[in-house]
Amino acid sequence: MAAKMKIMDIPSNTAVCICEHVFEKSAPPMLFAREQTGELIATCGCEVKKAHMVGFGHLVKFFEDIKQEEIPEEGSHFEKDRKTDIWKKGVLEA
Ligand SMILES: [Zn+2]
Repeated sequence: MAAKMKIMDIPSNTAVCICEHVFEKSAPPMLFAREQTGELIATCGCEVKKAHMVGFGHLVKFFEDIKQEEIPEEGSHFEKDRKTDIWKKGVLEA
């Protein structure tokens, strides 16, 4: 997956690792990250205990407001501010 690709261009069948809360729809994704390995992760912000895999197409609706952004580089992420609802870029903690 090329780094300059936009989020909206991620193929809908691309596997994304999600937390159980996003999987059960009890919480929306608040963190969209790309690990050093290139793996995409979407979580509600929790420490993932039980990971699930879904196709990106199931999640794309949550990323409407950042779909024009480039896919996060390895080791970085977008995190949604709980107060402002604005996505901010950041770097994953090691
Ligand atoms: Zn969660």
